[in-house]
Amino acid sequence: MDNHKVLRASRIGTLCDCALFYSVAGAEEITTEKSQRIFEVGKVLEPVIVSWLRNEGWNVKRNLLDCSNEGMSLSLEVNGGTITAHPDCIISRDDSPLILADIKTMNDRSFRSLKHDGTVKSHPQYADQLTIYAQALRECGHNIEQLAIVALNKNNCEGYIDYFTFEPERYEALKERAQRIFTLDEAPEQGDRFQSWCCGYCGYSHLCELCKKDTAVGDESVPATDNQEVIDAVELLSESRDMEKAAKELSDEAKAVLDREVRKQGIKSLRAGNLVLILNEIKSSRLDTTALKKAHPELVSEFMKQSSSIRYDLKEVA
Ligand code: SF4
Repeated sequence: MDNHKVLRASRIGTLCDCALFYSVAGAEEITTEKSQRIFEVGKVLEPVIVSWLRNEGWNVKRNLLDCSNEGMSLSLEVNGGTITAHPDCIISRDDSPLILADIKTMNDRSFRSLKHDGTVKSHPQYADQLTIYAQALRECGHNIEQLAIVALNKNNCEGYIDYFTFEPERYEALKERAQRIFTLDEAPEQGDRFQSWCCGYCGYSHLCELCKKDTAVGDESVPATDNQEVIDAVELLSESRDMEKAAKELSDEAKAVLDREVRKQGIKSLRAGNLVLILNEIKSSRLDTTALKKAHPELVSEFMKQSSSIRYDLKEVA
């Protein structure tokens, strides 16, 4: 039996040591249909994005190391195992140096945070992935200093390239992490306080003690439905919640600018492009129920009416 341990570079930036351990151990990974669709849509759009890059004048050497071709795979040997790497493409334009790029399709929220904060801060897992790819290429003699995420906003087809540089210290830290994971014989303790967005997308949550403890994952008392209409409705509800959240973030972002640049300047109306913005002061009265309860508790209970409604809560599970 081959005990050689292998870790994919695309995994190395995951926040959770436990998930990395399961990946290296070859444990069964269960992904949701939604996650699979997101992955497949990304793959389908990749050649389209490459053609847009070429139309913009970029030289794109795509699938330089195609993962379907074993002979073309890159790997980094470290203590205890191998990190495999499959870069998307190398791009260049005019006299610019070669740029190692990875193509990512994103939802609006993710895209905006990439533009606002840059890859290293907003998507450190992508910076980690590209750092490993770059090191693997450097060890093959390629002079790669510049890295980039070529991003497409799936909501509005806006494109953006975020550049950052290869950092040897980042590679050393990632190498040490991989080496540490390779030495493990059992899943590491994650600590009860570990709570992360990545649990929601984790394909190993069915194995994870922490996840079983903190969520309803693995609770067999939750029946599964095969009623497609219900499944579609639940997915629709989930999408609408994402949209509500994204809309709230957009609205907050816009209001912060308008508060600063318009309201606080005393401007009452203005024209912005083909839109007119009018500031209307809304005055409203609100019953202070806390104070009322405190001052006249009997009166409040006399007029209190019981009602009930159902709230639909959603939790993503593998
Ligand atoms: S469910 Fe969360 S804590 Fe458990 S392995 Fe996955 S990412 Fe780690």
